[in-house]
Amino acid sequence: MSGARGLTAANDVSAPNDLSAWWLPFTANRAFKARPRIITRAKDMHYYTPEGKPIIDGSAGLWCVNAGHNRDSIVSAIQAQAAELDFAPAFQFAHGIGFTVASRIAELAPGDLDHVFFCNSGSEAADTAIKIAMAYWHTQGQGQRTRVIGRERGYHGVGFGGISVGGISANRKVFGTLLSGVDHLPHTYNRAEQAFSRGEPEWGAHLADDLERIVALHDASTIAAVIVEPMAGSTGVLPPPKGYLKRLRQICDKFGILLIFDEVITGFGRTGFAFAAERYGVVPDIITFAKGVTSGTVPMGGVIVRKHIHDAFMTGPEHIIELFHGYTYSGHPLACAAALATLDVYRDENLFERTRQLEDKWADAFFTLKGLPNVIDIRTLGLVGAVELSSRPDAVGKRGFEAMERGFHEHGIMVRTTGDTIAVSPPLIVTEDQIGEIVDKIATTIRAVA
Ligand code: PMP
Repeated sequence: MSGARGLTAANDVSAPNDLSAWWLPFTANRAFKARPRIITRAKDMHYYTPEGKPIIDGSAGLWCVNAGHNRDSIVSAIQAQAAELDFAPAFQFAHGIGFTVASRIAELAPGDLDHVFFCNSGSEAADTAIKIAMAYWHTQGQGQRTRVIGRERGYHGVGFGGISVGGISANRKVFGTLLSGVDHLPHTYNRAEQAFSRGEPEWGAHLADDLERIVALHDASTIAAVIVEPMAGSTGVLPPPKGYLKRLRQICDKFGILLIFDEVITGFGRTGFAFAAERYGVVPDIITFAKGVTSGTVPMGGVIVRKHIHDAFMTGPEHIIELFHGYTYSGHPLACAAALATLDVYRDENLFERTRQLEDKWADAFFTLKGLPNVIDIRTLGLVGAVELSSRPDAVGKRGFEAMERGFHEHGIMVRTTGDTIAVSPPLIVTEDQIGEIVDKIATTIRAVA
């Protein structure tokens, strides 16, 4: 047991006595297990504790439950699929629902991004996208194009490709030499220029020009791709400066470099569109997705590629395997069933359009937090909001943030605290009253900790 606190009676799997065996990801396990926050149930906008206390879901789980929790049609679809075809390989076999889901996703993607490769998570999607980019250049007789350019403060999951192109030092520094030939664009945040800008900040499009410096340093002939999140999510919610993504696209075009958008967070409605690419009028060559595709119900991720990339792999002899890459659970039938039912909910309830309609009210509500103790910036985009607090030792500090996390739980709200930022991204079914409730609970907690 090693100090782990039991909860209730033995033999109740949802309330175990022994918390020691599960090593939790991205968690200070020892501190957490001394004061665990346990969730037993969820419905629509709420989680429930073992005592039955509702916790409003201000983070859509981990940015994924875009359709809200335990939606009947999604639950039924998963159950029916489990009873019909629980598993089938996607290596040299396939199943109808996989093709259907791929077509539905391709229909939502912009331009000629019309082929979908399935995996099971955002991390796998990032590594898959990087591998497809490199393999694509091989098909073009340019196998020396192996460098991938990421960005400071980028998050692309935890695979070796993802942490290499990602820009979070804590996620990289103890994991060896990583992928070689990686370089990073500067991140796009500058508080002096951008603080309290709603949506996309005016300042910062020129930061994309740094790609020209990187190209001059390494030569375009060695660069396979650039990968960025249209809006950096996990490192504190950084909406792209106006014009930045278009500029990046132009420079990639100039040097024939593939542009990858990691839409693991921004995909499936978070910014009011199926993909942020549509919001910004920029067609990348590759899009990665995960999370919202199944509203978090069953793990699924994937990579959408433009026609010319897919077609480049289809030109060799027919009996040759085109891409030596894939996962046992690529296109898992339960994930496909969950995705199909989720996409139906998004369509039938107009949740992407609804997000666009709510965006201003959401931002208005968030900006009422301006002026609260220690608040040094507020950023909003679609149904995402972030409150940055001062990290001065005499302000909130690390212990303050721990108190903040406990405070949120006590006040019945789940949000993400990353670094000095509180990130909020509710399910897209959030009502206007619930937006008010979320912002009130955040204000109460900020005041209490101050
Ligand atoms: N890319 C981005 C932009 C993400 O936000 C995340 C997860 N937060 C990932 C990749 C990794 O996804 P997963 O945790 O499903 O591997």
